Amino acid sequence: MTGALPILVAGGGIGGLATALGLARAGLQVLVLERAAELGEVGAGIQLGPNAFHALDALGVGEAARATAIYVERLRLMDALSAAEICHIDLGEAFRARFANPYAVVHRGELHAILLRACRAEPRVMLRTGAEVAGYVQEGGSVTALLPGGEQVRGAALIGADGLWSRIRGQLVGDGPPRVSGHTTYRSVIPTEQMPEALRWNAATLWAGPKCHVVHYPLQGWKTFNLVVTCHDDAAEPVAGRPVPAEQVVAGFRHLHPMVRSIIGQGRDWRLWVLCDRDPVERWVEGRVALLGDAAHPMLQYMAQGACMAMEDAVCLARAMETHGGAVEPALAAYNAARALRTARVQLLSRAMGEHVYHPAGAHAALRNAMMAAKTQAEWRETLAWLYGGEGPVTA
Ligand SMILES: Cc1cc2nc3c(=O)[nH]c(=O)nc-3n(C[C@H](O)[C@H](O)[C@H](O)COP(=O)(O)OP(=O)(O)OC[C@H]3O[C@@H](n4cnc5c(N)ncnc54)[C@H](O)[C@@H]3O)c2cc1C
Repeated sequence: MTGALPILVAGGGIGGLATALGLARAGLQVLVLERAAELGEVGAGIQLGPNAFHALDALGVGEAARATAIYVERLRLMDALSAAEICHIDLGEAFRARFANPYAVVHRGELHAILLRACRAEPRVMLRTGAEVAGYVQEGGSVTALLPGGEQVRGAALIGADGLWSRIRGQLVGDGPPRVSGHTTYRSVIPTEQMPEALRWNAATLWAGPKCHVVHYPLQGWKTFNLVVTCHDDAAEPVAGRPVPAEQVVAGFRHLHPMVRSIIGQGRDWRLWVLCDRDPVERWVEGRVALLGDAAHPMLQYMAQGACMAMEDAVCLARAMETHGGAVEPALAAYNAARALRTARVQLLSRAMGEHVYHPAGAHAALRNAMMAAKTQAEWRETLAWLYGGEGPVTA
C-alpha cells in the first residue's frame, strides 16, 4: 500500500500534469518533479481527437478544454503537386455522434495551463520546478528519486513522464537514444490576415507531396494559423526547436504547387525539429516505477496522437490505482498491460502514415490518392473507431 508517501511524477508536461491530476482525483498524494525552472509548453498548436476529450472529461477538465478549442469542420488531405483535394473526413454531426466528442485543435500552452490550474486547485498535488530526476533506487515498499546534487526524494511510486529523452527510461528499459527519423519539421505561427485568403479553411489541412508535407489549421480563436512543414531529408542528428532562417525553409519546398508555396512564404520565426521516435517495447514498468507518455512510447506526429495517448495513459493509471486499492505494483503492471498494445499500434501506424500517406511519390502517391478517395464518410468513421471510439483501453 502507498501509506503516507506521495506518488512521484518526473516531468510536468501534458502527460505529467494529467497524471498528477488523475492520481489526486483518485485520492492519492502526488509530487511532480519538473526539471525546468518554470512549468509551461513550447510550440503552438495541437490536434485533439475525440479520445483526448474522453480523457480530459475523465480528468474533470473536458469543459475547460472544449471552451478553448477550435472545432475544425474537416480533416482535409490535399495533393501538394496538383493542389487537388484527395479526400476529407467530415468532423460534423455524424462524426461527433459516433464518437461522443469533437475533433478539435487547441493551443498547447492553453491545454497545459488548463491542466496546471486544475493541479494547483487540487490540495493533493505538490509541484516542484528546477527538480531534475536523474535516476532512482527501489527498496522494500518505496522508491527514491535521485536528484543532481545528492538530494533524494522518497515516494510510493515513480512515474517517468519525462518525455522523449527520459532518464527514467534510460534506467528502466535501457534501449539507448531515440531513433532519428530523418524527417525535419519546421514550425511557425502566422497572423490570420497573412494567410492567403482563399486558404483560410476551417480544417486541419495536410498537403502531401514527394518526401515532404505541409500542415495548417486555425488557432487561438482564429487569430493565427499554425503552420508545420516537414521534409524527409535524412537529417542524421536530433534537433529540438533551433531557430532557422525562412530562406532555408522555403528552399526545401520549391517543387510544390504555387498555392502551397504561397502559404510557406508567409512563415516567420521558424524553428526546426528533427523528429525522433522509438520502436515499441512491451514492458515499461519495473516494480514501483512506470513510464508514461513520450517516455513510454514516443511517436512521430503523423497520427496527431502523442499527447492524446499521454492523457489516456494518465486516466488508465489513475483507474488502475483505484481498482487495486492503491497497491502500487499490481496497479502499475495492470496499467502497462492495458496500454502497451494500443500505444504500440499508434507508434507504428504513425511511421506508416509518414511513408504511405504523407510522403509518397509517383505510383505510390497515385495509389494513395485512389485508395483514400474511394472511402465513404461512414467507412472513415469505422476505420477510426478503434482509435477515437469509447475511451480506448484506459481501464486496467
Ligand atoms: C511537430 C509536432 C506536432 C505534434 N502534434 C501533436 C498533435 O497534434 N496531437 C498530439 O496529441 N500530439 C502531438 N505531438 C506529440 C506531443 O507533443 C507529445 O506526445 C506530448 O507533448 C508528450 O507529452 P509528455 O508529457 O509525455 O512529454 P513532454 O511534453 O516532453 O514533457 C516532458 C516534461 O518532462 C520534463 N523533464 C524532462 N526530463 C526530466 C527529468 N529528468 N526530470 C524531471 N523533468 C524532466 C520536461 O522539461 C517536460 O516538461 C506533436 C509533436 C510534435 C513534435
